[in-house]
Amino acid sequence: MTLTATKSHRADFPGLVTADGADWHYLDSAATAQKPQAVIDAVTRALGVDYATVHRGVYARSAEMTLAYESARRRVAAFIGGAEDEIVFARGATEAINLLAYSYPDKGRVLLSQLEHHSNIVPWQLAGWQVDVCPLTEDGRIDLDAAEKMLTPEHTMVAFAHVSNVLGSVVDGQRAAELAHSVGAKLLLDGCQAVPRLAVDVAALACDFYAFSSHKLYGPTGVGALWGRAKLLDRMAPWQGGGAMIEKVTFAETTYAPAPQRFEAGTPAIVEAIGFAAACDYVDAIGLDTIHMHEDALVAQTREALRGMNDVALFGPEDSAGIVSFVMDGVHPHDLGTILDEENVAIRAGHHCAQPLMEHLGVSATARASFGIYSTEEDVAALIRGIERTKRIFG
Ligand code: PMP
Repeated sequence: MTLTATKSHRADFPGLVTADGADWHYLDSAATAQKPQAVIDAVTRALGVDYATVHRGVYARSAEMTLAYESARRRVAAFIGGAEDEIVFARGATEAINLLAYSYPDKGRVLLSQLEHHSNIVPWQLAGWQVDVCPLTEDGRIDLDAAEKMLTPEHTMVAFAHVSNVLGSVVDGQRAAELAHSVGAKLLLDGCQAVPRLAVDVAALACDFYAFSSHKLYGPTGVGALWGRAKLLDRMAPWQGGGAMIEKVTFAETTYAPAPQRFEAGTPAIVEAIGFAAACDYVDAIGLDTIHMHEDALVAQTREALRGMNDVALFGPEDSAGIVSFVMDGVHPHDLGTILDEENVAIRAGHHCAQPLMEHLGVSATARASFGIYSTEEDVAALIRGIERTKRIFG
């Protein structure tokens, strides 16, 4: 059974113990995932014996580092079924979406949804797009029937979370792409929460852009990617200037390198990109189908246990991917989070950078448990014990 199979992977993650050596029930993987030793080793090597700059050095170590950095780009591209010249390394999904919102040449109307993370809302506002908001279905999915009615030829972009970071709901990316394309718009999927838990193939999804962060995929912070179709990236202007993104600089005129280099000004996150690629290797070796099944089983167990409590309200659809959000009557999620912490259970409590979604749900905050490859039934049991204890404390 996959639960047992993945249990052995827990030993790969040195971060899953508390300072005094107890098991840490880490249920905040949607915020950031713990790192396997393989990623820590790859980063340590890249920062140590392999370390040098890329793209500039005439010496062998720099040439090797350049190969490693470009090979990381190929690895990350392959992870989502894209081509290497279609991956722009950015600081994370947030920067990737900002880049797109600023640099996309046909700024018009963008259709977002009610459940978006702030990083798929604010960049569009800042870059001057007209924002329209697609409503949700009763069970917390992006309502694609409503999107179909709302889309007009004025829309040049549709930007949806592939998986909601609060509700875990998964959008039908293929249908979203068809709808966007039917009015001549492009589709960006914010894949932050999808890549750690679903096998993603951008060709099968038929989307045009895909943004994600390494740190939610068991890789280092400080790096992420924007995948974009080569012919679309080619049409986009640079958004930050500096070294490495140019062809020729004079005071009269500067010409730019082709994509993706054009979007990577300055010394890149070399070490982090190498760690990102190591994380792709780690995840692929286990298999996203295995991870997905494992997380599904834990979500089902958690939802079932919470449904049995009449003072708990659950959000999101039954088939949420890896994420369960809920509130308890008379207990603020922050108080629950603090009490659970005393039991070595780490959850997230708050608005999850999705304030418009909180408004739609009629709450100011939720408690959120989210799973990863290392999560176990014991983690779920510890969560449920902690919730029962919280109930007793609050009487
Ligand atoms: N979108 C979603 C759905 C997310 O969950 C997150 C991270 N919480 C982001 C975007 C932003 O990612 P990052 O902070 O890594 O840039």
